[in-house]
Amino acid sequence: MTDDAFDKDGRKPLTKLAQAGRKPEWTGMPGQPGGIVSPPVWRASTILYDDVAHLRQAAGRSTHERLFYGRKGTPTAWSLADALTEMEPGAEGTMLFPSGVAAIACTLMAVLKPGDRLLMVDSAYDPTRNFCEQMLNNYGIETIYYDPLIVDFAVYLEDGPIRAIFLESPGSLTFEVQDIPAITAWAKANGVVTLLDNTWATPLYFPALSHGIDISILACTKYIVGHSDVMMGSVTATADWFAKIRQTAYLFGQMTSPDDAWLASRGLRTLGVRLKQHQDSALAIAHWLKDQPDVARVLHPALPDCPGHDQWRRDFSGSTGLFSFILKGGDEQARAALIDGLAHFGIGYSWGGFESLALPVDPARYRSATRWQAEGPAIRLHIGLEDPADLIADLDAGLARFRVLRDTICDGA
Ligand SMILES: *Cc1c(COP(=O)(O)O)cnc(C)c1O
Repeated sequence: MTDDAFDKDGRKPLTKLAQAGRKPEWTGMPGQPGGIVSPPVWRASTILYDDVAHLRQAAGRSTHERLFYGRKGTPTAWSLADALTEMEPGAEGTMLFPSGVAAIACTLMAVLKPGDRLLMVDSAYDPTRNFCEQMLNNYGIETIYYDPLIVDFAVYLEDGPIRAIFLESPGSLTFEVQDIPAITAWAKANGVVTLLDNTWATPLYFPALSHGIDISILACTKYIVGHSDVMMGSVTATADWFAKIRQTAYLFGQMTSPDDAWLASRGLRTLGVRLKQHQDSALAIAHWLKDQPDVARVLHPALPDCPGHDQWRRDFSGSTGLFSFILKGGDEQARAALIDGLAHFGIGYSWGGFESLALPVDPARYRSATRWQAEGPAIRLHIGLEDPADLIADLDAGLARFRVLRDTICDGA
């Protein structure tokens, strides 16, 4: 388990969550004592200047954390961006995006150019793959998928240089944990930039830049917002990359609304207590599922049989609420019977809110470098903040519904 060993200012991450991003000029009135706790919602498109000279002066200098025009943000978004930067020791800055996918897309466009080759983890979030195949492909950028468990990429250099390695750890749907320190060491030695989708762990449980990652991407939609009511993405990068990503975001006109930034900041303050509860409840449910005779496997990084579990133990300081399990036998219909009758789990995309969710997932559809084989259909759970005893009882009844259908179908065959 790691802690904030790389943090120069000595504050623990939970203290930072409470304090980060609160500059006096964003929370008080000029010339007046006192200040409000949280930066309020600063809504703006036009910024008015005193005269032409001031207008020209504003246009001629960096707009970073300076009022210039609404698209460059206001203190509400800067406060959130600063807070996310403070959570990532080694970071130069953070840019915010209207969704996690927008953050991934813009970062790939910032890093890659025609003729480049990108190594993409085979367990990546499905829309990330889509962007590579349907957009990067058009610009002459080749995507090569790799097994999430490998650490040596030398074989890929035989066909030409590699520009970037994209990681997602644990992997979407299947939760393999990558050996990030080994991969980033290889990448640095070979002049390759590393990008990580860090949505599952957040910087609280995995400060990515301290582990050698150059660019860390979050779907803030999930745990940062935490209440299933805002779409947002963020990109936090080292000094080598931040300016380039910021410039690319400006060129694409990417921004977030002040109201959404304010909600995300509000979510961020309670990230510590929420994740702790998500972690505890998800672990209780994962262990219970593991002991059920109708469950073939539980895919959770904190369970010893999860591929990459040793890496998780070594590098992460916690686990969160999202994991999958594989049923023993059964088909689509039997899986649907389990999910459809659940009383406390919603059926829907996304995750990271306070509510539990159950989703049928079919990992084999989103793989090309590795083969996904399983003993039956898979279900991804997001464990929310409900009482885990209620959730276990709900899943227990669901497994009974599954069993009836599975065994009836088998008998009839
Ligand atoms: C949801 C998700 C995204 C995309 O975020 P959106 O805000 O929905 O666009 C990216 N990566 C992972 C791992 C996700 O779960």
